[in-house]
Amino acid sequence: MTLDDPLPSLSGIGPRRAADLAKIGLHTVGDLLSRFPIRYEDRSHFRDIVSLRAGEVACFSGTVVSCGLRLTRRPGFKLFTAVVRDGSGSVRVAWLNQPFMADVIHRGDVVVLFGDVRQAPAGGLQVTNPQHEMVDDEADTIHTGRIVPVYEKTGSLTGRMQRRLVFDALARLPEDLPDVLPSRVAADLGLIGWLPALRDAHFPPTGTDLATLNAFRTPAQLRVIYDEFLAFQLGLLLRRQAADAERKPASVLIDDRIRKAVAARMPFKLTDGQRAALKDIVTDMARPSAMHRLLQGDVGAGKTIVALLSAVVAMENGLQVALMVPTEILAEQHYLTLRRVFGRAAYTVGLLTGSLTAPERKRVIADLATGMIQLVVGTHALVQQKVSFARLGLVIVDEQHRFGVLHRATLREKGWRPDVLVMTATPIPRTLALTTYGDLDVSVIRELPPGRTAVKTAAKPQTRRDEVYAFVRSDLERGRQAYIVYPLVDASEKVDLRAATDAADTLASDVFPEFRVALLHGRMKADEKDRVMRDFAAGQIHVLVSTTVIEVGIDVANATVMVVEHAERFGLSQLHQLRGRVGRGTHQSHCVLLYQAPLGEAGRARLKALVETSDGFVIAERDLELRGPGDFFGTRQAGAPTLRSGDLLRDHEIMERARRVAMSVIADPVDAAALIAHVRQTWGTRFGLASVG
Ligand code: ADP
Ligand code: MG
Repeated sequence: MTLDDPLPSLSGIGPRRAADLAKIGLHTVGDLLSRFPIRYEDRSHFRDIVSLRAGEVACFSGTVVSCGLRLTRRPGFKLFTAVVRDGSGSVRVAWLNQPFMADVIHRGDVVVLFGDVRQAPAGGLQVTNPQHEMVDDEADTIHTGRIVPVYEKTGSLTGRMQRRLVFDALARLPEDLPDVLPSRVAADLGLIGWLPALRDAHFPPTGTDLATLNAFRTPAQLRVIYDEFLAFQLGLLLRRQAADAERKPASVLIDDRIRKAVAARMPFKLTDGQRAALKDIVTDMARPSAMHRLLQGDVGAGKTIVALLSAVVAMENGLQVALMVPTEILAEQHYLTLRRVFGRAAYTVGLLTGSLTAPERKRVIADLATGMIQLVVGTHALVQQKVSFARLGLVIVDEQHRFGVLHRATLREKGWRPDVLVMTATPIPRTLALTTYGDLDVSVIRELPPGRTAVKTAAKPQTRRDEVYAFVRSDLERGRQAYIVYPLVDASEKVDLRAATDAADTLASDVFPEFRVALLHGRMKADEKDRVMRDFAAGQIHVLVSTTVIEVGIDVANATVMVVEHAERFGLSQLHQLRGRVGRGTHQSHCVLLYQAPLGEAGRARLKALVETSDGFVIAERDLELRGPGDFFGTRQAGAPTLRSGDLLRDHEIMERARRVAMSVIADPVDAAALIAHVRQTWGTRFGLASVG
């Protein structure tokens, strides 16, 4: 048997079952064997029931002597209880609100149970909501009497079935199963062979330390995790290599004339981080292969100017630049900044948004095609539309995290091979940077421009809103401006919109009658939004009540207070983004997070993190811990790998090491030929990402 054999070669898998398994992505023996246990239980020794103590997690086995569904005083709440006895004694077991257990467990059954032992409310011990497994009559060497793997039930494949299948498959694998890992790498990392790793990761030998197993740190598990991470990193590097092999139409030249042109556009002294980032970018642009760079910098770090100066370099080289942003408001804001920074310089700048009239739009598109327009600002629909450029040299994507990954493929399909600079103000935890953005080069701006004072943040229950409004008023009276933000979880949620609209009315008429209050939300027409934003930026609106449309990019230095309503409903990174709208000038700024009590545990942790730190990188790490990698970006986005054995949080150090090893492997392709071939063949299907070039 080989790992590529189809699953029906295992006994017990007929066509029906094979179809079921195919539905959950299991086609081959290798697929099956790469679904590793989610944890392990030591069933080599069952605990005597008489020795169980409250507060422990225990595994024991026994016969069900009685069982039944019970009604409780709480309406609709069902309790299934059983009494289980072994040679030493008996104990009560309860499943809360799992009435279907009545169909699973019957009197006389022999069961293995694994769960929390607690003091029962009515006295005595009770095991609550344990994992259960039925034991066949015959003595069984797979499911009991050893350390057993516990698999996640997927579709119709139960953990118990998988255990049996894996056991059979492992027994039939040949002793000379191919191992693609170069022996040099295995030796360097101290990794064991592939076959023993597979065997021990599924069925750990008796005596293996259970804590080490459940931390996924046995030699077998490490080998398996390394394999996955190495393949992943190697795939990214191969993809990157393929991209680098493609030459862009023109690389950029930097001479004194261009340096002068850039210096002339510099509105202020760049911070060290900005200067270093600009240098990275310009160096990339001068190379024959296209740039793929991520510019990370916290909100307010000053990424825009770095992008604009890069654009100057491109335009001075006769190339066109596309600046893509997630929202129209932001497009318009950037457009205004551009006009300000470039003044009356010889650059033609165009704006392409949905709110243009048909003739305006036609005009812009025509001017892009002839090369008349040198820099176009638009939403990311820009690349999707029927737009052609005369000489597109640089694509800048602002607030990248809102798009999902911009697939180079999209650009390539259009025959474009421009330099690509993506910018994000959601600092990306290192681990995710190594995966989601693993094939991008990264520049980071760590510091904020001089003269900024950190925003002071406080979390307060809604009941203290009046106090908060009084505080807002004191800033308004000093000539400052304020944001009051309402959650709009989903644009279709009329209730939220209503809340924001009503609040704007009340604030205008009752709370701040002597100030100008305006409302901004995503459902407004683009020109209305634009007018409101412009008036706010000009200081003619004092209080901007808004839904999260202001989240990204908006830059009004005189706004010093932000009140976030229902802060508990926002994600951590999102709140950090919002807060970044204040503290943009020299005045002390404040952010008040109003929450509805009582706070859940996660909500409390989020607000606490925000009050405690304003460092976006720290916040990103906290956010990742709280939400897990899949949710980090709000939605699972293209570019996040689906990992089978590794866990980005638990194993991030391994990922970093794997990246270094992958680089050394690529440098010595002869030695690693088998591994590279394996990665080329499996990478795309394995990680659900575009395949290696
Ligand atoms: P972000 O990185 O969040 O996109 P912006 O580019 O909008 O930040 O910059 C935030 C503010 O800081 C802007 O008002 C910008 O003009 C200002 N700024 C940027 N760099 C500097 C600098 N080196 N010195 C002073 N102000 C700067
Ligand atoms: Mg920005």
